Amino acid sequence: MATANLVSIADLTNDEIEEIFDLADASDKLRSKKVVHGKIMATLFYEPSTRTRLSFESSMQRLGGTVISCSDMQASSAAKGESVADTAKVVSSYADVLVVRHYWDGAVQAVAEHADVQVINAGDGGHEHPSQTLCDLYTLRKEKGELKGLNVVICGDLKNGRTIHSLVYALARFGANVVTLAANGMELPHYVLERLEREFQYTLAPVAGDDLSAVVTETDAFYLTPKQPHQLALFTALDSTIQTRITSLVSGLRYDAFYMTRKQKERMTNSAAAGDYPTIGSKFLREQRFKDTVVMHPLPRVDELSPELDKDRRGIYFKQAAYGVPIRMALLHFLFEKGRRARISKTAKSSVLFESPHPIGPHCPNLKCITVNEPGSTRLRFELQSEGPAGALILRCLYCDHRFKVQLVGQATSKKYCAYDIALADNIARWLKNGELAIFDSIKQAEELGYGPYKSGPRRAIMDEAEVDSAIQQISAQILGDCDDPDRLLIVGVKTNGSMIAQRIASHLERAQKRKFELAELETYGAGEDLRRVFPVDPELGPIQLRDRSIILVDDVIHTGRTVKTALSIIFRSGRPQSVRLAVLIDRGHRQIPVKPNYVGKHIPTADHERVRVHLRELEPDGKDTVLVYSIINPSENRS
Ligand code: ASP
Repeated sequence: MATANLVSIADLTNDEIEEIFDLADASDKLRSKKVVHGKIMATLFYEPSTRTRLSFESSMQRLGGTVISCSDMQASSAAKGESVADTAKVVSSYADVLVVRHYWDGAVQAVAEHADVQVINAGDGGHEHPSQTLCDLYTLRKEKGELKGLNVVICGDLKNGRTIHSLVYALARFGANVVTLAANGMELPHYVLERLEREFQYTLAPVAGDDLSAVVTETDAFYLTPKQPHQLALFTALDSTIQTRITSLVSGLRYDAFYMTRKQKERMTNSAAAGDYPTIGSKFLREQRFKDTVVMHPLPRVDELSPELDKDRRGIYFKQAAYGVPIRMALLHFLFEKGRRARISKTAKSSVLFESPHPIGPHCPNLKCITVNEPGSTRLRFELQSEGPAGALILRCLYCDHRFKVQLVGQATSKKYCAYDIALADNIARWLKNGELAIFDSIKQAEELGYGPYKSGPRRAIMDEAEVDSAIQQISAQILGDCDDPDRLLIVGVKTNGSMIAQRIASHLERAQKRKFELAELETYGAGEDLRRVFPVDPELGPIQLRDRSIILVDDVIHTGRTVKTALSIIFRSGRPQSVRLAVLIDRGHRQIPVKPNYVGKHIPTADHERVRVHLRELEPDGKDTVLVYSIINPSENRS
């Protein structure tokens, strides 16, 4: 039998979701249909569950099927080290559907690749929980009628809450707007925001300061909507005019629902789990403007929802949990009846897939991804995404959705490698088509596979050590000259070179002012923690506070402006600073995004085919600073 899986909410189209809702409306009638009769469901839960598991099991039995289960996966062969791939293969011959919950992001995708029967994701790490989203949307639709145009506040741990991730994609698809109200340090991951922007043109705007003060939180709220192209991430200085303009876009919003979540402590270190967490209680209930705002929660709750809400008509979370049975009955009926291979989502259909020609290749940087923790159950497959003209080449992990930048590419026949550059785009497309494209994490990896470097054109040094030093000194002096409140100053370097320069700027400021300055580091395509403290390092301090800070964002070279745009959207997602000013060692022109650096070490007008590389002494074997300009030589003309 062909299989139909539900691994991500993207596996279902909007029409299919509506079809499942119609089936759920008449779930009693499904009992007498024979579609699921005699079928067997295996529930494999590597993490605790009450609602998801029991409602799936109850649904299966109501539909005339039966259930087999390992009551505790620690009592299964998993405890002896069995891989998810082997478990999937074996249990496939005992059951007709596998319902799987696992602690690694992307694990259910791996199960689906090895199982011969259909697979349903009941939660994979901090990644997705699509059947919960079906319950959530169904509840919302029952309460509010249409989903289109609703304003839904998602609140709490937006970083690790898997229910949130599936939910925001679905809300965006149905045309609802999302307001994020994250606990500090638990903001929506950047890869989720990027997907909302890429697929649904959603952008962020800050909600008016006191708009959500009835919910106790120290965090700023942001409105995600495709309606107004406000491009917040392009403003490097949020002056009062811009603030007012953006705020007026979103003031007086009607809030239709508050979707509250539990702090996912099991996915955090103790220090990350510390700090304030939003709660909803009597203050919320009393506020007139929330009189029609329903409160939802995937449950279990800890103390973020006061029991007072249970008796209020707006607290609908027990209803939401009860819908788990009709929805999961409908889902099982739908998947068995269709019995067809999982639909590939709209993006996946038009996507370009990359599979490494070698047994080693690029790694997903997400340390919680199944590909990192159980590589034997996965394949080295990614979606290749291009950021557009002159943009970076991005790999999206097909298991956990995290995205990262391609640094090194190789050609498998000539066994040559070079740094990725847009000038190579045509070659790369050809190599990909012929199955000759290799991508590496490091030069070491390329050389271990027998690859040698491509030659590049002649290099000329345009800045030496003394020039780099004096440029950084001059930038530091200007920053100090503009700074009226050193306590507010926060220096943020873009990893890796920007971060080194930021540290040098901080030491200049320190010497001049005889005091320390707070320093952070930002990674645009990192392993999860986009914004990290560099100084002070005390883990007790918790996440960096951005509210009302004067941020100096530091990078080595500004070219198209895309890195800066990404960095700014990471900053704005994490809080509302008073201003962000941009300092770069080199401005080489050719901007595609209209951002303008405030402090520039040197302007270097370059030709399009030329590249600029900054070598900093901290990272160089010879311990010297140099800035080089060179031209790209097309590798196909260089098959020596
Ligand atoms: N039950 C939901 C989940 O498994 C929510 C939670 O645990 O907080 O993701």
